[in-house]
Amino acid sequence: MNKKGHVLNAVLLSVGLGYVLEPSLTVATVETMVRLSLPVALGALFPDVDTAFGKHRKSLHNLPVLGVFVVFPTYFANLYFVWVGIATHYVLDVIGSRRGIALFYPFSKTEYGFPGGVTTSSKHADLVTVAVTALEIGAFAAVHYYVLPLSRGVNANTALAGLRAVVGV
Ligand SMILES: [Zn+2]
Repeated sequence: MNKKGHVLNAVLLSVGLGYVLEPSLTVATVETMVRLSLPVALGALFPDVDTAFGKHRKSLHNLPVLGVFVVFPTYFANLYFVWVGIATHYVLDVIGSRRGIALFYPFSKTEYGFPGGVTTSSKHADLVTVAVTALEIGAFAAVHYYVLPLSRGVNANTALAGLRAVVGV
């Protein structure tokens, strides 16, 4: 996926997740959307820094890099939500291309893509980006409304409760 697709994805995702996290449709909803927008957009653009430094679709397109951004906020109390942008960048690069990304780099150089991936030059690229974003918002809402309440009911200190703390909700 190209930069335009990643930015479109980040903007729509911030609006959708903002509504999921704060569905009151008040000023607080808009604040949540704005609060998400910059870090998610930064995360969505960050992996392609490896076009200049390292190997593109490998050095910054892998699960260890995502793990660093998931854990970072718990230790340093900043960069919340940036991991959301990075995760969604990976999803778009896997689905929005035939080449794929090296998810397990540096342990493996194998690139994981989608055989029917829509290339960045396709006229359907924006449509695919919007559809993928809608699926992501649905998945996030399912976790937010169904999985996280379950984890709270069982034990407030479960790993999922920890995940909720990382997300900052
Ligand atoms: Zn990329």
